[in-house]
Amino acid sequence: MSYKDEARKYQLLNTAFELNLSKPTYEQIANLVFFDNDCTDAQRENNYTFLTNIDEAINRYVQNSEIDYKKDNTFNGSPDCGCDYDCECSLNVFAMSAFKNIARQFDLDIKGNNALVNSVLADFTIEEQHRLLSCNIAEVLRIIMYKSLSYLAYNLGFYDISFKHHEVAIVMYGGIMVDVQVDITDYLEDEISARSKKASDARWQPHREEKKERKKKYLKIMKDKGFSTYTDAATYIKLHVDTDKKPSFPTVCRLLSEADKGNFS
Ligand SMILES: [Zn+2]
Repeated sequence: MSYKDEARKYQLLNTAFELNLSKPTYEQIANLVFFDNDCTDAQRENNYTFLTNIDEAINRYVQNSEIDYKKDNTFNGSPDCGCDYDCECSLNVFAMSAFKNIARQFDLDIKGNNALVNSVLADFTIEEQHRLLSCNIAEVLRIIMYKSLSYLAYNLGFYDISFKHHEVAIVMYGGIMVDVQVDITDYLEDEISARSKKASDARWQPHREEKKERKKKYLKIMKDKGFSTYTDAATYIKLHVDTDKKPSFPTVCRLLSEADKGNFS
């Protein structure tokens, strides 16, 4: 193969890899979580702005996280990959824990506060905020975060790590599609098997909760966390407690308001 053919092949491969990393696109996510096709033009525009703003905020977050390759690193130096060429498997295994640390910290941070979402929501009207929050927002944040880590790894030349993070983003995207909450407590090693087990468990579990219990639970969260408005409490609940599409943000607000007035029926 001539040098020129080699270069072209490399370019094609690179472009295909980048195209793959761009999935799921904002359009695909917006379609899935905001039912983009049923939205008005203005709503569609807001969906896109909301997602791109989240993406920017998360990219900033990832960029500001210091990559520390040594922290929590248990790699013993022999990946035993069996490659018959000058591979970079050990480099990828070595660097992996640093990416995991960022992902773990991100999860802790979004559990601890809503600052990232609130800052992105601030530009929208109250009605639009409610509509945008009625999706499975915590999972959307995670999908975009894993995509961001995947791009970071790609830019640093850790292609295996890049692909693994992209795979997690795709599995989460699929989880929203079949309406199953996926668990990210530990990811990648046994990611796929753990997820498919959870998915099948969830399918058999009736996940209906009595309205009364729900009201009690929401009110307790509002009191315990010291939220002064239903909106703040509902934002927290949608982000950390009941993160599925249902109950929607307005429903959580309504249940809270009724419970707060002593109506538990
Ligand atoms: Zn190898």
